[in-house]
Amino acid sequence: MRYKSPVIVVHGGAGSWRITDQERAKNTIKEALVRGFEEFKRGSAIEAVVEAIYTMEESGVFDAGKGSVKNSMGYIEMDAGIMIGNTLQAGGIMGLREGSAIKRALEILKQGRHVLMIDNSKVMHSTSGSVISGDTVGAVALDNEGNLVAGTSTGGISGKLPGRVGDSPIPGAGYYATTNVAVSSTGIGEIILKILPAKEVDILVSMGFSIEDSLRSVINKVTKIFGKDNIGMIGLDRYGNASAYYNTKGMARGVMSSEEVKVFVFEGEI
Ligand code: ASP
Repeated sequence: MRYKSPVIVVHGGAGSWRITDQERAKNTIKEALVRGFEEFKRGSAIEAVVEAIYTMEESGVFDAGKGSVKNSMGYIEMDAGIMIGNTLQAGGIMGLREGSAIKRALEILKQGRHVLMIDNSKVMHSTSGSVISGDTVGAVALDNEGNLVAGTSTGGISGKLPGRVGDSPIPGAGYYATTNVAVSSTGIGEIILKILPAKEVDILVSMGFSIEDSLRSVINKVTKIFGKDNIGMIGLDRYGNASAYYNTKGMARGVMSSEEVKVFVFEGEI
């Protein structure tokens, strides 16, 4: 579906959603869209993506930020990454134990010295833990200057070993942005890291395939190799074509442009 820029698309994870979860998820997605979109007035796609993801991290509704799941030792380790398409600047944080993972990733991007950093604090306390079956959060945005930005933030997988890192902070896996596309992935990191689906979507779009066909083809490939119930993605191209695809029961997601706001968990076209 094509939207007039500026446009922002967000997700709250691919998974199986209980009826009781859906309203909370949808309301939070909507709030993230509205707050992210508001940033286009002051800033660019980067501010929009960070604000939308930060809103979802702070909500405690998803497996990110305050809702992050605990590892097998009972504390949280968050991963996040963010990338700017036009400049290919990227920043990723791994194993962050407190604070906002997306804001830390942004700091790393802005510092520009390294792309990936581990948390080197020794803090081990935990927040409340996610209460719904939702997952990782992510956002992609296109601003009026044609900047495409992608970001993803997660608490990872419940019960993971301390030190485990998933796909979410890794460019090309959990997110990717170029002059062609911005993509954010969610699902089982151990699968996503082997396929690098966000990078593959960029390759397909640069070969001339639509964002919609590219997402569908990459996810179908994952399904063919690993079976269902393991991945979802959102994507946006430089013309404002937005798409979402998943092989799970549902994926909480939404889109906002100056024309409309739409939020879905199951069927619906973004
Ligand atoms: N991809 C994330 C991870 O493996 C989890 C998720 O998307 O739910 O850490």
